[in-house]
Amino acid sequence: MTKRDYYEILGVSKDASADEIKKAYRKLAVKYHPDKNKGDKEAEEKFKECAEAYEVLSNPEKRKKYDQFGHEGLRGSGVHDYSNMNVDDIFSNFGDIFGDIFGGGFSSGFGGGFGRRANPNAPRKGLDLETSVELTLEEASKESKRTIDFTRQDKCDKCGGSGCEPGTNPKTCPTCGGNGQVSTTRMGGFFQTISTCPNCKGTGKVISNPCSKCKGSGRMPVKRKVTVKIPAGIHEGQAVRVAGEGEPGVNGGPNGDLYCYVDIKKHPFLVRDGNDLIAVVPVSFTQAALGAKIDVPSLEGRKQLTIPAGTQYGDVFRIKGQGMPDLRSSRKGDELVRVTVEIPKKLKPKQEQLLNDFAQTEDKHVSPERDNFFKKLKDYFGNKK
Ligand SMILES: [Zn+2]
Ligand SMILES: [Zn+2]
Repeated sequence: MTKRDYYEILGVSKDASADEIKKAYRKLAVKYHPDKNKGDKEAEEKFKECAEAYEVLSNPEKRKKYDQFGHEGLRGSGVHDYSNMNVDDIFSNFGDIFGDIFGGGFSSGFGGGFGRRANPNAPRKGLDLETSVELTLEEASKESKRTIDFTRQDKCDKCGGSGCEPGTNPKTCPTCGGNGQVSTTRMGGFFQTISTCPNCKGTGKVISNPCSKCKGSGRMPVKRKVTVKIPAGIHEGQAVRVAGEGEPGVNGGPNGDLYCYVDIKKHPFLVRDGNDLIAVVPVSFTQAALGAKIDVPSLEGRKQLTIPAGTQYGDVFRIKGQGMPDLRSSRKGDELVRVTVEIPKKLKPKQEQLLNDFAQTEDKHVSPERDNFFKKLKDYFGNKK
């Protein structure tokens, strides 16, 4: 499924301020609100689309990633999948923004939709987890497998996650009657405040006989070992998603996912630039002047490169297909060898003699660039000493 541009969804420009984005979202959320468009599937889809766009564009970090890399850049950054969410959950996500405008009594005008908390018994997806692996540049250039050991919260094996001692069941919370919220009336019934039930902390249930193993939390840390396949050409900071290896869901919801982020170790000779690799290789001034076969580092070890006579400091030579594979097409980038020229710090007497002789010949044939340089120098300073 192709996703629409978030700015387009909210009808704002790419440089819209946080306030403009907030206002645009509120307007659209009211327009497409399901309580106002009962049974209208399209309005519901639009409503969810707007929520997703707002989640990303209202968060500076996510917005920056989106601006740089588009939808692709947000993989693994924990943006909710609204298409599978029910409308109540969306409200619980953005409670604040609706609270601002519709505060208190107005909500009832929309059938209690605004400001209403999510049903505490609705299935919810578990939390995503993150881990990281370190690869060398050579390893990143090929498909690799890594086994990761980590600890995650999982359902308690004694109570199956219910938190109740086996054979007993949780009871409906007597304080809130199971809906997880209590309302208090103040000032003769003029104001009504709704807050999370203090007895059950919003779950709507109380456990009278807590499981002895997990003390009623329903969760236990478990050690996990998973093997992650890392595709060839992966970049620093990208993540591989392992579906279902996150924390368990609530009320029968699915597990979260595990995101395995990749760190790439610095290579002693090669620097990555997209799918290309850059190597800086020093040569002697005689090699540069006369041309030579030089050794250059590559992902597959030492390689030979022929540089022509008259190579200049900073000249770049491209070795086709010796870079990193593209993550999608697996087409390989190139290696770029940038040559620097070293001038000897000390000369042997024989070398000095030869260079003096060389300089003598040079005076008769001044190179064009030097000629130009001295002319510019004279033009600028005149004949002043
Ligand atoms: Zn309660
Ligand atoms: Zn338990």
